[in-house]
This record gives sequence, C-alpha cells and structure tokens, in this order.
Amino acid sequence: MSTQRHIACAHCGAVNRVPAERLGDDPSCGRCGSAILTGEPVELTDANFDAVVGQTELPVLVDFWASWCGPCRMMAPAFAQAARQLKGRALLVKVDTDANPALAQRFAIRSIPTLVRLDAGRERSRQAGAQAAGAIVAMAS
Ligand SMILES: [Zn+2]
Repeated sequence: MSTQRHIACAHCGAVNRVPAERLGDDPSCGRCGSAILTGEPVELTDANFDAVVGQTELPVLVDFWASWCGPCRMMAPAFAQAARQLKGRALLVKVDTDANPALAQRFAIRSIPTLVRLDAGRERSRQAGAQAAGAIVAMAS
C-alpha cells in the first residue's frame, strides 16, 4: 500500500489523491485534467486560497507580492527556481496583495515581499524581504 496525499487543483478546486511516490511525475487533476504540481508557482486569490491551501497535504509557501514592488519583481525568478527545485515536495503560491486584500489583511502583511510558510493551513514561519532561491527552498523544506 502506498501512501496517498491529497492535492487540491488550483484550477478547479477538486481534491485529488496522489500516491506519494508519484508526486513528482506531473500528476493531473482527475476532474478538469489540468496539471497539478507542475513545479511552477500557482496564483491564488481571495476566492480559492482556502480551498487549495487547506486541502493540499504538502508544505505551502506563499509569496505575498504586488506588481509595483521592485523587490517583489526581483525575487520572482528566485521563487520560480525554488518552485522547480521543490516540484512534488511543496506548493509555491503567489498572492497579489492589491487584487486580494482579504488575504493580505488576514495574514497581516505589512511589507512586501513577505513569504509565509503554511502547514495544513497554519502559519509556521514567515520572512519579510526578498530572498534568494536557496533560502526559499530551505524555508519550504
Ligand atoms: Zn482540476
């Protein structure tokens, strides 16, 4: 018997069961067919954040950012690189704080970029300011 992990689809919200040893094999959503755990950051919103983050049994790292924020844009390639390195092991999420004020308020985001590590929807740690890819990987591992 292999262990299964629940992974929520960021596209349609369906909760998929993926065998733990297949998490890195480009699993796709059983409902909508979208790739889940692609190794790329997923954009979440006030509307779907809880459904995806709360139903995904992997460490989640959220990048709270905004398009006008220079350090946020500087960190984006490092965040994407960390997502590739953590493919199948963690879910990396981007939340645009301008477009999603409810999440920014709930997490009390005072400066951006801020990275928040969540396990089963609960905050475990956070870091304000742009981080290098290695530090991002370490935070999500
Ligand atoms: Zn789906």
